[in-house]
Amino acid sequence: MRDIDHFISGGRVAGASGRFGEVFDPNTGSVQARVQLATEQEVDRAVQAAQSAFATWREVNPQRRARVMFEFKRLVEANMNELAERLSAEHGKVIADSKGDIQRGLEVIEFSCGIPHALKGEYTVGAGPGIDVYSMRVPLGVCAGITPFNFPAMIPMWMFGTAIAAGNTFILKPSERDPSVPVRLAELMMEAGAPEGVLNVVHGDKAAVDAILTHPLIRAVSFVGSSDIAHYVYSTGTAHGKRVQAFGGAKNHGIVLPDADMETTVRDLVGAAYGSAGERCMALPVVVPVGQRTADELRERLVSEIETLKVGHSTDPEAQYGPVVTQQHRDRVVGWIDTAVEEGSELVVDGRNFSLQGSEKGFFIGPTLLDRVKPEMRSYQEEIFGPVLQIVRAADFEEALSLPTKHQYGNGVAIFTRDGRAARDFAARVEVGMVGINVPIPVPVAYHSFGGWKRSGFGDINQHGMEGVRFWTKTKTVTQRFPETALEGGHQDSSFVIPTMR
Ligand code: NAD
Repeated sequence: MRDIDHFISGGRVAGASGRFGEVFDPNTGSVQARVQLATEQEVDRAVQAAQSAFATWREVNPQRRARVMFEFKRLVEANMNELAERLSAEHGKVIADSKGDIQRGLEVIEFSCGIPHALKGEYTVGAGPGIDVYSMRVPLGVCAGITPFNFPAMIPMWMFGTAIAAGNTFILKPSERDPSVPVRLAELMMEAGAPEGVLNVVHGDKAAVDAILTHPLIRAVSFVGSSDIAHYVYSTGTAHGKRVQAFGGAKNHGIVLPDADMETTVRDLVGAAYGSAGERCMALPVVVPVGQRTADELRERLVSEIETLKVGHSTDPEAQYGPVVTQQHRDRVVGWIDTAVEEGSELVVDGRNFSLQGSEKGFFIGPTLLDRVKPEMRSYQEEIFGPVLQIVRAADFEEALSLPTKHQYGNGVAIFTRDGRAARDFAARVEVGMVGINVPIPVPVAYHSFGGWKRSGFGDINQHGMEGVRFWTKTKTVTQRFPETALEGGHQDSSFVIPTMR
């Protein structure tokens, strides 16, 4: 059995805990590798490596740090096929989608290549007589990222890309379910010129997460995962004096107004609901048609589009989506479909008994469509995170607007319409962090920022873009003057009054 090791001080390090997690091949259901699960001491070893690397890395000028990111980008692109194959083999998403996962991470690396500009401070000449004021953004020190299984390349790059370019050193604790790609990324960072200890990868479960959250040398923690754990990470990390941003689960709605272009809307909805087997925090698992006529037409079109979907092996170039990540997750998703039916939703397309010939033990679920879902149902209130689309019928615009607004999650939402006024009104009033107008998956580009509201995000600062730069740095402001010397008769008496600029 292959072991997946930690990556500390520039090299692979076997774990000493004697505890391992199983990494499955979701296509076949078999175990393909074991991943080490770190102890507190192993986390500490990585933190010590990062702390000693910080002393020199922070002194490397921003342009040189940017050159490392440029080279890293080149190396990731050169290794794209190998990385995407590895990612698909452990996650189960199809190869083209794995390349998208890597590419979206690279876009944040591209942003971080501009870090010299982003770190430029502000300067006021002559804030008072002979007084200048300037501010600068300085790195925090050792930082950490804890990431989910569903984007094993993109989310780590969101975090370490900006943090390291800004002069910090980093401990990445990736998901134990698909841990190989993060280790490869760390190797490529070293090859790109990052010194040893600048990026370390420690695998693990709650024990490793707790060691990160309580370690006195770790200054900031970025987390992405499910909401209960995001909340735990936020409260524990902040209680230990760390800066924390923690992003959680989602239940994104797609609102369809009667004037929407039905053909493109249905194609968009199907891609956003079933792509990556629905295992995306920006998937669209709820569609809200406004008015009975819209609902009936939409349902009919959805069914015929769903019938054309091809579910297959993650390496099958014809497949639109592959298996979910584990059997446990498959059981959970199927359990939610059972609950939805028990709660009174109408099961229009049932994917529960889907089986792929030759891969009967793979973790596949067919596309599932549920209609007449009601806001009081638990299957609507909770995240399912599988290839399941729920139709919640709304009588009018106000009812449709209130659904995502009142929902416990507030990650993303999309509205499909040709009516600019309605779209504008919707975007202004909906209580959700990221809004798409005829854009089904409104993940902002790398130079804007990503973050959900309500139980989708804990903390004040978003991921990537300038928000990311703010999260991974702190501001120092200098007020300076160079008084005339005593020879010139320039000394002043002490002042016991707060200085003002009157
Ligand atoms: P998860 O919460 O199970 O795991 C996330 C991380 O937390 C992993 O590194 C895991 O090892 C760690 N972890 C697991 N159990 C823990 C515990 N008890 N204590 C401390 N740490 C623990 O999430 P997942 O299943 O890997 O990912 C899917 C979830 O992530 C979904 O809810 C999805 O919506 C969410 N997600 C959110 C975003 C976003 O930006 N809002 C993006 C991607 C995924």
